[in-house]
Amino acid sequence: MRFREGAGRMCLDYLRTLRHGTMEELPDAAAVAAWVEQFGPLDSVPVPSEGGYVEEARRLRESIRALIDSARQGIGSPASARQAVNAAAALPPPSPALAADGRVVWHAGDPIGATLSLIARDALDLTSSPLLARVRQCAGADCGALFVDTSRPGVRRWCSMNTCGNRAKKEAMKTRHVD
Ligand SMILES: [Zn+2]
Repeated sequence: MRFREGAGRMCLDYLRTLRHGTMEELPDAAAVAAWVEQFGPLDSVPVPSEGGYVEEARRLRESIRALIDSARQGIGSPASARQAVNAAAALPPPSPALAADGRVVWHAGDPIGATLSLIARDALDLTSSPLLARVRQCAGADCGALFVDTSRPGVRRWCSMNTCGNRAKKEAMKTRHVD
């Protein structure tokens, strides 16, 4: 797996391609195509020769973050962010078809645009869903990743126990040793 999974929603996993808010994991069309192949329903996603949605993909990501941040704070979202997410959501999504072997196979004339549409639709759905109250920001030092807390008590603090949670535990142990 090239990109991290496990935020609990496609749009939140997508936000994590801007790692720690600064490290760009979508530097070029090949990376965008790879993300779309890993997270979308399409079997294979060729790297487009021209442009390849790199600008659009990043703008969509920043706009989704703005939308979710505003929704979590209960304030109105910036018009530019809303427009960018709406525009992506308006792109035709992939369509399913039943194959002879019983598998459902997904098709799209424009695989990357179609998957950006799915990401945008997922974000619109999440911002207007009761699940929004379960979206948390990771407490890990300079992580800031958003995830859906599906734990029953609803007190999950880290995006992942393997990374941020573990680091926090080690830090706490170190502090205890000093005392
Ligand atoms: Zn984290």
